[in-house]
Amino acid sequence: MIFDRRRYGKDNYVYLLAEGGEAALVDPGDSEVALALALAHGARPRFILHTHGHPDHTDGSAEVASCLGAAVYASAADAAWYAPDVDLAGRTELVLGTLRLRVHAVPGHTPGSVLYEWSGRLLTGDTLFWGGAGNCRHGGDPALLADSFSSVVARLDGALEVNPGHDYAEANLPFALDLDPSNARARAQLGAARAARVRGEEPRPTTLEEERSANPFLRAAELAPVLAQRGLACRDAREAFLAIRHLKDAWRG
Ligand SMILES: [Zn+2]
Repeated sequence: MIFDRRRYGKDNYVYLLAEGGEAALVDPGDSEVALALALAHGARPRFILHTHGHPDHTDGSAEVASCLGAAVYASAADAAWYAPDVDLAGRTELVLGTLRLRVHAVPGHTPGSVLYEWSGRLLTGDTLFWGGAGNCRHGGDPALLADSFSSVVARLDGALEVNPGHDYAEANLPFALDLDPSNARARAQLGAARAARVRGEEPRPTTLEEERSANPFLRAAELAPVLAQRGLACRDAREAFLAIRHLKDAWRG
């Protein structure tokens, strides 16, 4: 079994999954980096999976698909950006030869955003980040994002490893600490992310359980008193989530 990632651009990640001779690339936004990642493991992926359609995640897909003869899987709800070969609409499981993945539809960052669950790992695209959640500025809907967090993300196994589409840890966690200065888990995660960068290494992925302690978007109900102090009275967790999304959009650390 192979699971690896490479950074491209400033903070995007492409992932390689391989098992039993079958391999897939997730979000090959940069074709050269994606192909080099596959080559480094001697893999020849027949599948390309998109977490969503935004160009920074999909710009390399046509090139990679043509080089490898691979098929592109994604939700056609994001076809405004990239029309996939295979639409994931209504699919909760993908069987790609020897690769088996669960698919969780999480509209919000975009209409067609999905999470992939594979072998104890969650590939979260731009829906869930280390210390944060996706914005809704490019075709997204905060109300749908709130519903996806409460109905999907909140119910997933806390042991799952969180592998996002961007490394925004150092941008997100100061906001988390601004809301909740005594949050030891958020402080530890920020320290670990900074230390990894200084060493020239990639941050260690968190678990969903760790995110549930540190990430304000997964702690919306607990943060309601803090929001009330800031003049944002919330009647329930959903309103608190939307208030946190609003505050983060306006936040300039
Ligand atoms: Zn995106």
